[in-house]
Amino acid sequence: MKVIIIGGGAGGLSTASNIRKYDKDAEITVITRDVNIAYSPCAIPYVLCGEVDCFEDIIMHQAEDYLDRNIKVITKAEVFDVQSQENKVKYYLKDHKEIEHELEYDYLVIATGGSPFIPPVEGTDLEGVFKIRTLEDGIKIADWASNSKKAVVVGAGLIGLEIAYGLKKRGLNVTVTEMLPQIVPRSLDPDMAQIVQEYLENEGINLILGHPLDKIIGNAQVECAVLGDHSIDADMVVLATGIRPETTLANIAECELGRWSIQVNEKMQTSIPNIYAVGDCVEVYDAITGQSTQSLLGSTAVRQGKVAARNIVGLNSEFIPVLNSVVSKIGKLEFGSVGLTKVSAIHNGIDVISGKIRALTKARYYPGAKKIDVKIVCNLKELIIGCQIIAEERVAERVDTMSLAISQKMTCSELASTEFSYAPPLSMVIDPIILAAEEACKKISRVNKKNS
Ligand SMILES: Cc1cc2nc3c(=O)[nH]c(=O)nc-3n(C[C@H](O)[C@H](O)[C@H](O)COP(=O)(O)OP(=O)(O)OC[C@H]3O[C@@H](n4cnc5c(N)ncnc54)[C@H](O)[C@@H]3O)c2cc1C
Repeated sequence: MKVIIIGGGAGGLSTASNIRKYDKDAEITVITRDVNIAYSPCAIPYVLCGEVDCFEDIIMHQAEDYLDRNIKVITKAEVFDVQSQENKVKYYLKDHKEIEHELEYDYLVIATGGSPFIPPVEGTDLEGVFKIRTLEDGIKIADWASNSKKAVVVGAGLIGLEIAYGLKKRGLNVTVTEMLPQIVPRSLDPDMAQIVQEYLENEGINLILGHPLDKIIGNAQVECAVLGDHSIDADMVVLATGIRPETTLANIAECELGRWSIQVNEKMQTSIPNIYAVGDCVEVYDAITGQSTQSLLGSTAVRQGKVAARNIVGLNSEFIPVLNSVVSKIGKLEFGSVGLTKVSAIHNGIDVISGKIRALTKARYYPGAKKIDVKIVCNLKELIIGCQIIAEERVAERVDTMSLAISQKMTCSELASTEFSYAPPLSMVIDPIILAAEEACKKISRVNKKNS
């Protein structure tokens, strides 16, 4: 069996490794335009802020390591054609563009990821303006930052904020701009986002919200970013304005595209049965709304790679709709969410209530106990559909607990009566999640009483 995988990121390499796990004889070839493979883009902000020593540390494997597992990786190669009728791909090596190469496949996996969205405004081509996607982007940002004093980061999503904090830690004066009136709009409600905003402001990061970027001004090199009446002097601008799925090759192959990107079934199979697709280039279903959506996460790409691999080798496997669990850490602050926010639930026409509490991460008297904020979102039948958590410790495991609760379709009363462990240095005797669930139950019974 010959398998060609286009893309050497999380999705492509997870597919390759998993096929090898189940099939010792498959001929697996990964083709990527990148120089580096198997690195963690998620770790770029943590190199910038100095928590990880250097960019080399976030490269986990080299192409040769894959050869040891009999997976051939062709780097610096651009696939420019997929002939799905003949089961062939064509590519050229970036150093020898004049020579076309052709490979045949039994199965093709499109794992082409996404490209940064560049806002259509003047000045994005100036020197000192950066996008953020690859290791090379991270290295360029770090190099330029070492001779800079003032940075503007456009976009206050998770990646924008993580990069902003990294640049601040490198000693720059940093301003984050966002066109919406709050930070992290996809994952946090405004009241929860406010807590993160205050933390960032205390760390000395400036925020300008509710203003889209109008233009970037400079003479060859960036000098300032303009947003309405605001003109912010800058030696560098980082555009963290979102990712657009890379669907060119899927289009050439005549795979069906959906509302957002490549359409796949639960097996990660495209409309062409021997072509699979995984990662940022595919669209998925939202577990709560049932609508097609995007899940631009490394964690999603890796899970999809496993599913595609199992199906390619003939084992049955399904990718289930997503809850888009996310977590981030900026300085000491951890925050995360799973499922829908209250704002997005209302936007989707779902009537909801929320239970919100502020508690502590350990027993009240225990040294080092930290504040924790939990917000649970439920529909009016008590079903939990979302949760947001902010604290200086143990956010990720609580988000994962809530992911399990939501995927198991728990109600807030069921959650409120769940048994949680306790010891003073590790938790409160009643876990903050339980307190938030109780709060949600109280509100729902009030609403139900009113309506009866
Ligand atoms: C700064 C940053 C922080 C992040 N933090 C997190 C995090 O904390 N948690 C999380 O879950 N996710 C995070 N993400 C998102 C995560 O990195 C992506 O969702 C993930 O990398 C997607 O994997 P992928 O394989 O779909 O795409 P990619 O990793 O983008 O890989 C796509 C591959 O396709 C190749 N390719 C595309 N077209 C062609 C072609 N025509 N020919 C040859 N090769 C081609 C590219 O060279 C590349 O190798 C972060 C991303 C960034 C940039």
